[in-house]
Amino acid sequence: MITTTVYLIHFDRPYIAKTGKQKKTAGHYLGSTADLAFRIREHANGRGARLMEIITQEGIGWSVVRTWNGDRKTERKLKNRHNHAALCPCCNQNIAHLRHGAGKGGEA
Ligand SMILES: [Zn+2]
Repeated sequence: MITTTVYLIHFDRPYIAKTGKQKKTAGHYLGSTADLAFRIREHANGRGARLMEIITQEGIGWSVVRTWNGDRKTERKLKNRHNHAALCPCCNQNIAHLRHGAGKGGEA
């Protein structure tokens, strides 16, 4: 059985894509991987996902703020909400305690 980690990345500032007349903003990236550490290294090098490639090119900082144990079904379920900010401990104070990596250093 393969264990997959679903992860949420929060961008330090939103990315605004200008495609023709449409303006799209992205403040988060939601993905899944069997090897989170490897995938994060990929993203840090601008690989693994088109959006992360762009973010890296734009010089936008980012961090993994939340993870779930799950599979592609979990990923789809979370994506279907179309509201990543509601899942994001950085953007949603109600779930700030769920922040990935919280606890080391006792951040507020
Ligand atoms: Zn966020």
